[in-house]
Amino acid sequence: ALYQTPDVSKPRYVRVNTLKLDVESAQRELEEQYSVQRDDMVPDLLILPAGSDLHNHRLVMNGSIFLQGKASSMVAMALDPEPGWEVLDACSAPGNKTVHLAALMRGKGKIIACELNKERVKRLNDTVQLSDIEVLHGDFLSLSSSDPSYSKVQAILLDPSCSGSGTASVRLDHLLPSHATGQSSSDGVDEERLNKLAAFQRKALEHALSFPAVERIVYSTCSIHQTENEDVVKSVLPLAASYGFHLEAPFPQWSRRGFPVFEGCENLLRTDPVEDKEGFFIALFVRKVTFSKGPS
Ligand code: SAM
Repeated sequence: ALYQTPDVSKPRYVRVNTLKLDVESAQRELEEQYSVQRDDMVPDLLILPAGSDLHNHRLVMNGSIFLQGKASSMVAMALDPEPGWEVLDACSAPGNKTVHLAALMRGKGKIIACELNKERVKRLNDTVQLSDIEVLHGDFLSLSSSDPSYSKVQAILLDPSCSGSGTASVRLDHLLPSHATGQSSSDGVDEERLNKLAAFQRKALEHALSFPAVERIVYSTCSIHQTENEDVVKSVLPLAASYGFHLEAPFPQWSRRGFPVFEGCENLLRTDPVEDKEGFFIALFVRKVTFSKGPS
């Protein structure tokens, strides 16, 4: 959803929908027109030259490949759901990550894709068509975690509405607390809007933590702001701990981690809007127990 227009300064990442086509076949077909490389971290990701315009390509039109960036493709991988699991995609439209989850689960298991916005549900339905995904038009916050329909959900992907500031060309090092000489990391932006978004993000994350059988939760944004990222994660840590969750490091080999604003933020993952082409934030909460456990 982030890249509607070709950007000549950025390589074109293409995620192969392995439910429909294997990576080798997609690569072979794309190589008829473009030079194609494989990504070294995300196995289903192909890299094409900057400016490649694939919007009308046959493989895009038939859902075999998705125009999805690398950082965005790391989110579902970080959740790492197993085939056969029940997974809830809490804020799911337009559904790029939902379909990626289905591919990672090799089409086995159950995926519930929740989306509040009616117009965006239409997009979601288009994206997930032919995949075995249950689309739910509603508010994630009002799904009751004690409802038996969700009693077996083992993983939640929470990619809520955010400021989208990760698509702007601001380098992260200009926002680092050490660089900010006492000023807030959100200088120059609408603080009130960020705080509103963060309040929703926190509520949604707290809600995700309350589902009884959940073992893995990924919280992600395409924001570069600490307010929506480290601060949200930090604010739920006591609640997360009371439910038995701890932070784990997705992609430990990735060097860009969370801003150093609390102990454990090296587990968080950031990507840089300039260096990594898009600014994302990923936090992974894990717990080993699978039985219901409330706050102690
Ligand atoms: N994960 C999606 C993808 O990769 O294609 C992008 C999700 S987008 C960042 C956030 C979505 O959350 C928006 O479509 C928005 O309408 C939806 N949303 C916002 N509040 C919600 C809520 N309370 N319950 C469910 N969905 C919500």
